[in-house]
Amino acid sequence: MSASSLMFRYGCHRVLEPQGALPQAAWRLDSRPEHELGAEHELVIAVERLNIDAASFRQMEHAAQAAGEDIATGVARRVRETVASRGKMHNPVTGSGGMLLGRVARVGSQLGSPHRELVRGESIATLVSLTLTPLCLDEIVAVHVDTHQIDVRGTAVLFSSGMWSRLPDFMPESATLSALDVAGAGPQVARLCRQLGARRVLILGGGGKSGVLCAAAARRAGAEWIVGIESAPRAAQEAAALPYYSRVLSADAADPLALAQLATSAASASGEPAEYDLVVSCVSAPHVELAAILCTRERGTVYFFSMATSFTAAALGAEGVSKDIDMLIGNGFCVDHAAQTLDLLRGEPPLQQLFVRRYSR
Ligand code: NAP
Repeated sequence: MSASSLMFRYGCHRVLEPQGALPQAAWRLDSRPEHELGAEHELVIAVERLNIDAASFRQMEHAAQAAGEDIATGVARRVRETVASRGKMHNPVTGSGGMLLGRVARVGSQLGSPHRELVRGESIATLVSLTLTPLCLDEIVAVHVDTHQIDVRGTAVLFSSGMWSRLPDFMPESATLSALDVAGAGPQVARLCRQLGARRVLILGGGGKSGVLCAAAARRAGAEWIVGIESAPRAAQEAAALPYYSRVLSADAADPLALAQLATSAASASGEPAEYDLVVSCVSAPHVELAAILCTRERGTVYFFSMATSFTAAALGAEGVSKDIDMLIGNGFCVDHAAQTLDLLRGEPPLQQLFVRRYSR
């Protein structure tokens, strides 16, 4: 592939600073909808809704509270400022983004399949992070604090390497958007369960979006004993009512010793303490690396899906307690992740009902 086709494929022509970076790593992007260079390689979307990544929304929510602002107003101000200064919704504190829902406004003439099949006006959700998506906001219409979604009017650009999904008709758009935001989680946990033959699975943040999807996926993939740890009482209750968890415990995963004791005691029906074959971190808050590590058996695996994960804390933490385990970074993408996540929701009515109840606004 020539240098210029690589540049357009990955959207490097939109990078303002630093020169040479790819859009995700860049500090600032050129987000003008009509760009003189490379327009024929771009998909332009009229944006209707942003789904802000949980770690990012939580950080902005706490910052607004600390500043004595109304949460919705404070989050809206921070989103507006970030997008204006960076040309993308790339939270400078958490480094995370989210994804968006909108209508196809223009399909560049040089785009190949599957983009070419899109029709102007069709609704799609993007499957690449807002941290690399050029975004212009005309208006922030409403902030839905409980679902981390924001109604907006604006324009976004997808490059030919960027994935998107059509929206199914069996769920409201906002509930679908919530599930697609974490589309990589369930399919990758299912794959891990099968590859590792994992019987015991622990999910930290087990009542959130990715947590409940991972629990359902692990159950379908043959895991026998699945325990969820959840700090939000309502989310814990709702997760416990699903047919996937063996147990859901209300606890703070940022307290490693207490958590290790609690979770290992709940690792079997008999109450015999045991560590887990697979631990999945789906929390939206930092400082849970050690709890995940302590709960994993020797040569077991931790899957850090959470964006609040620190590489240093995980690497040095595991070394410091002499645990020989595998630790995986949660790649947001795997082949067919959106289709697999939608299939899981379609085939699991209790899971689907939870998403519809929680995230339809
Ligand atoms: P979510 O729906 O907000 O769920 C997270 C859950 O964790 C919430 O119920 C939260 O409770 C709970 N929690 C927070 N701190 C906890 C603690 N110390 N102990 C136990 N539970 C705790 O979030 P999500 O959308 O599933 O996202 C989960 C994580 O994945 C986030 O970090 C997000 O940024 C990340 N993510 C990763 C990717 C990727 O590609 N790897 C993609 C999307 C999202 P509260 O509501 O009370 O805080």
